Amino acid sequence: MGTNKNRQSYQPETIIFNEGELGDCAFIVEKGEVCLSILVNGKPVLISTLHEGQIFGEMALLDDHLRCATAKTTQETDLLVIPRDNFQEKINSSDQFIRLMLNVTLERYREMRTRLNQTLRLNKVDEQDLLEQENKRQQAQVLSTAQQLEQENELRQALENKQFELYFQPIIALNIDKIIGCEALIRWNHPKKGLISPNQFITLSEQTGFIEPLGLWIIEQACLAFERFNNQLSGQLKFISINLSGRQFTPSVLIKNIKGIFAQHDVKPETIKFEITESILMENPLEAINILNEIKKMGSFIAIDDFGTGYSSFSYLHRFPIDSIKIDRSFTSTMQQNHKSYEIVKSLCALAKSLNIEIIAEGIEQVWEENSLKSLQADFGQGYLYAKPLTADAFIELNHSRMQ
Ligand code: C2E
Ligand code: CA
Ligand code: CA
Repeated sequence: MGTNKNRQSYQPETIIFNEGELGDCAFIVEKGEVCLSILVNGKPVLISTLHEGQIFGEMALLDDHLRCATAKTTQETDLLVIPRDNFQEKINSSDQFIRLMLNVTLERYREMRTRLNQTLRLNKVDEQDLLEQENKRQQAQVLSTAQQLEQENELRQALENKQFELYFQPIIALNIDKIIGCEALIRWNHPKKGLISPNQFITLSEQTGFIEPLGLWIIEQACLAFERFNNQLSGQLKFISINLSGRQFTPSVLIKNIKGIFAQHDVKPETIKFEITESILMENPLEAINILNEIKKMGSFIAIDDFGTGYSSFSYLHRFPIDSIKIDRSFTSTMQQNHKSYEIVKSLCALAKSLNIEIIAEGIEQVWEENSLKSLQADFGQGYLYAKPLTADAFIELNHSRMQ
């Protein structure tokens, strides 16, 4: 072995380091060849062969985990040694975000390696095949991350370029057959792809955190729209429903922002109903109860959306301050054919009545459904039977035509 401080020469078949050892330096191959292998069922399995200009053992520069492979020369080899030195210090003093990204990347890499090793140990599958599969999986992951970043960017630009628009679907008071309110539903007017449904971008918005600015925009626009409706419809509407997403839920920030919007636009809180799905409630009940209590303190109302599709634990009905339940379309639309659906809706209506909670039936498309719901004394109905979600202008027009 040579003695130069940063450069070392090795004979063929020399172990540079072993899997499981502590490491404090990385290596660059200057000349020769190094093989990296891992032990599978007690036997070394080659995972890569490195030549001139390639780096290995680099993870030791970033943290002090154990070596996850064995490195061995196959011929006379010169290596440049990169010691950790002040590396750690530099990392520690670097930007917090960069540190986070580095840790996440390392963690992902280790997970991938561990998974691969486990799979190799468990199955006697062709190792090369597996490595190829893993490479493909990684490649796909990189691609999908890149795609996601691009889409997120597109969403942010869409907000800046005013490509989002709220649509409004009427909610009918079933006992008087009158439009009593509406639900605000977002659409993306894509310049090339046309009108895009929220199902195609809400989840991504939640995953990327974009839902926070988008959610605030929705609340503000819904409040402004409701003011306009009331001016043009002589105060006939009682409320507008706004969907709240789970990820919008940093309680103090959300409440502060809602209060800000209400104050800025002189919104009457009692005209706003926030819709929250039951899965959000159950995922984080403690956080949810804080938010719901704050919303109630402000004077606004709360509806549980998609009722019956999530955890369906009735226990929260008395734990949370809930004003309305929205029976999911999957029940409304099967009431006629499926006796059990009908019985569920019937029981829900009775339960809600006894708890003093209003019932809104979603997805009413047939007169039969409407009649059944009326006979079960559901309070409100919403669905294509009355109207699909409409632009603000069309919604006002519909109201005018129904008033005549
Ligand atoms: P959701 O809150 O359950 O909204 C009801 C969905 O059912 C709407 O779809 C509506 O157009 C559709 N719908 C209403 N009546 C009928 C009917 O009679 N038949 C059928 N087949 N469908 C009906 P949309 O607008 O595509 O929204 C889908 C989901 O996207 C919403 O489900 C909600 O979870 C989410 N979403 C929409 N707008 C917003 C928003 O502003 N913020 C958030 N966080 N989520 C939103
Ligand atoms: Ca809803
Ligand atoms: Ca719903």
